[in-house]
Amino acid sequence: MLTLQRGRHHGLHIAPRWPATHIQIEEDALQGLLDAQARLPAELRLLVTRGFESRQGRLGDFRRRVRRLGIRVFRACYPGRHDEIDAIFGANGHDIDGHHVDVSLVLHGKRLRLLPLGVFTPPRWQDRRVARHAEAVALVKHSLQYCGFDLHHNPTEALQIHCDYRGSNQLADSGILQLLPKP
Ligand SMILES: [Zn+2]
Repeated sequence: MLTLQRGRHHGLHIAPRWPATHIQIEEDALQGLLDAQARLPAELRLLVTRGFESRQGRLGDFRRRVRRLGIRVFRACYPGRHDEIDAIFGANGHDIDGHHVDVSLVLHGKRLRLLPLGVFTPPRWQDRRVARHAEAVALVKHSLQYCGFDLHHNPTEALQIHCDYRGSNQLADSGILQLLPKP
């Protein structure tokens, strides 16, 4: 596992989500992110905000408390979306190993905020933001998938952008080969 401090790593932006001060990530997942970034146009860069976070310790306690509070607020705001709570507030593998990362987009040097209110951003706002940056979002998602990442099935979590590194040699399983033009 590698520990990355805030800043740049081979051109990849590293911006740990508060209050974390660094990001822990497996070496192969980092290579996957670098490969994914290499496939993007120069004006579009990846920014990593979260990797492995231990359940123990102060950060683990903090995330747990925020999650509990978040679930209460989410329930109150979105009574019709109870079935999404696990997907949105679960640890989603961040507490298991450094193959689970959250990625954000930097376009022309500016970070794209697809979820200005975090996971509480109303779905309609999410759609509007995604529509405005549809091309950049699609490019990043395709590039990540091509380089061995699975995107999260929940639309809100997928904007986070939560993805799981599954390795680089399983493209056939991902269905992406069907999207490529036939030879
Ligand atoms: Zn995540």
